[in-house]
Amino acid sequence: MKVLVASSIAVEAIEKMKEAGIEVDVKTGIGERELESIIADYDALIVRSSPRVSRRVIEKGKRLRIIGRAGVGVDNIDVETATQNGIIVVNAPGGNTVSTAELTLGLLLSVARKIPQADRSVKEGKWERKKFVGIELRGKTIGVIGLGRIGYEVAKRAKAFEMNVIAYDPYISEEKAKEIGVRLVSFDELIRNSDIITVHVPKTRETENLIDEEEFEMMRQGVIILNCARGGIINEEALINALKNGKVSAVGLDVYAVEPPDPDSELFKFENVVTTPHIGASTREAQTNVGLLIAEDIINLHLGYPVRNAVNLPSLVPEEYEFLMPYLTLAEKMGKIAAARLEGGFRRIKITYRGKLARRDTSYLSRALLKGLLEYILGQNINLVSAIPIASQRGLEVEESKIERADSYESLLEVSVEGRDGSIYMAGTSFGKDDYRIIRIDKYKVDFVPEGHYIISLHEDKPGVIGRVGTLFGRNNINIAGMIVGRYGNKPGGIQLMLLLVDDPPTEEVLEEMQKLDGIIDAVYIQL
Ligand code: NAD
Repeated sequence: MKVLVASSIAVEAIEKMKEAGIEVDVKTGIGERELESIIADYDALIVRSSPRVSRRVIEKGKRLRIIGRAGVGVDNIDVETATQNGIIVVNAPGGNTVSTAELTLGLLLSVARKIPQADRSVKEGKWERKKFVGIELRGKTIGVIGLGRIGYEVAKRAKAFEMNVIAYDPYISEEKAKEIGVRLVSFDELIRNSDIITVHVPKTRETENLIDEEEFEMMRQGVIILNCARGGIINEEALINALKNGKVSAVGLDVYAVEPPDPDSELFKFENVVTTPHIGASTREAQTNVGLLIAEDIINLHLGYPVRNAVNLPSLVPEEYEFLMPYLTLAEKMGKIAAARLEGGFRRIKITYRGKLARRDTSYLSRALLKGLLEYILGQNINLVSAIPIASQRGLEVEESKIERADSYESLLEVSVEGRDGSIYMAGTSFGKDDYRIIRIDKYKVDFVPEGHYIISLHEDKPGVIGRVGTLFGRNNINIAGMIVGRYGNKPGGIQLMLLLVDDPPTEEVLEEMQKLDGIIDAVYIQL
C-alpha cells in the first residue's frame, strides 16, 4: 500500500504506517491541481482541511481505497463521489474533543473577564481597572446545543465552574445527560433561558442558520454566544444585529461562515467579540491523536481489517470493535466460501445473529459477508462501503435476524446463501480476539479456522477415496497440512464433506484431476 500524506500530520503516525510495511510519501502544502496530477499512484490519501479532495481528484485516483481526514469535519472531501467509487472516507473523531472543549471554555473565560481586551490595554501602557469589570460564571445558565463528544466535555467543565447546565440534543439519551448532571430541554427553552449559549452540532442542512434573527429575539438580554463548532450554524448577519442592539453582550468565535473571514467584516469591529482562527484542535495532543487515529485505520485496511472511523460507514466504539472483530473476519470468509461453492450464483442471503452477538450492532457484519460474496464476482473492487449499494443494485435479497438463544455457544453467526443451483449453510463462532472458527457447513459438523489454502469437497464415504486424494497431492508435490472430514450421522456411507488445508494452491489441472477421482463428487479451491 502506498500513502500520500498531503497535509502535515504527527511524525508518530507516519512512523506507525511505515512500521506496518506501508510506503509513505509526504508532500505537504500541495494544492488541488497538483494532487490531481499525482493521485493515480496512491492507494491512500491523508489530508487535513486542505487540499480539497474534489470529484476530479477522486476520479483520477484509480487506485484510491481510503481517504483519511486528520480531523473531524470532512467538508473538503467529496464524500458522495468517494462512496460511489467504493472509497472509504475516515476521519478522526474524538482526537480533538478535549482540546476543542478547552478552547470553548477559554473563549468563555476570555469574554466573561474581557481578558484579551485587558491584555491589549496593559500592553498599550494603560491601567484601566474599572473598564474591565466582568461577570462570574458560577450560577449562570449555560445552554449547550449538541451534547455529543465536545458538547459533553464542555458541559462537564461548566459543571466544575458551578454553572447550571442545560442542553438540547434530540438524538441523545436522558441517561447520558443525567450522568453529568445536565438537564435536557427543548430548543426554545434553551434559547429563552440561557445566559450563555454554545453550539456543538455538526453543520448540516438542519443546523445551518440554527440560530438566526428569530432565535436572537427570544434570547435573554445580554446573552453570551460561543461558536467553536462550524461557521454558519449561527447566522453572522443576525449575530451582528444582535450585537448592535445589545441583545448579545459578548461573543467568542473560533469558526466563521467563510474561512478565512473577510478582515473588514463588521464582526471584528466589536470590542466584545473575541476571535481565534479555527484553532480548536490546534494542540500538540490533538494533533498526535488525530494523526494516529487516521494511521490506525489505514493500517487496518492494509491488513484487511475493517476500519473504525469511516464517515461513509457506521462507526464502532473500541469495545464493540474488539468484540466484533473476529466475527467480521468470519463473516467475510463465510461469504468467500459460499461464493466459491455456489460459483457466484447467489441470490438470497439469510444471516442470523445468535447469543451475545444478537445484542450488538451487526450492520458491519452483513457488509463483511456481502464483501466476501461479491469479491468472487467483482474482485478487489469491493469494500465495506460499496458492498451494500452493489448488493442492492444486483438485486440480492438480504434478510437478517437476531435470536438471543445460542444453545451451547456464547455467540453464533449463521449464514444461509441460496444460489442458482443449490444453497449453503454455515455456522461459526469466536472464542476470543483472534480465535474464530467455522463449526458447521450444511449438515456437517466441522471445526476449523478459515485461514489458508482450502479445498472443500464432497465425496462418497467409502474406502480408498481419501487415499486417492492424498496420492494425487503427493504426486504433485503439494503438502497437505490438515484434513477434516465432516461425517454426517454415525454410520459409514453416504455423502460426506472433506476440507483439505494445503500449503500451496493447487493448479487448475490438479483440481480437475481431483474432481474426476473415483468417489469425489465435487471440489473447489478457496484462498481464505
Ligand atoms: P459529535 O458528532 O460527537 O456531536 C454532535 C452532536 O450534535 C451529537 O450528539 C448530535 O446528536 C447533535 N446534533 C446533531 N444535530 C443536532 C441538532 N439539529 N440539534 C441539536 N443537536 C444536534 O461531534 P463533536 O465531535 O462533538 O463535534 C461538534 C462540532 O465541533 C462539529 O461541528 C465539529 O465539526 C466541530 N469541531 C470544531 C473544531 C474546531 O477546531 N473548532 C474541532 C473539532 C470539532
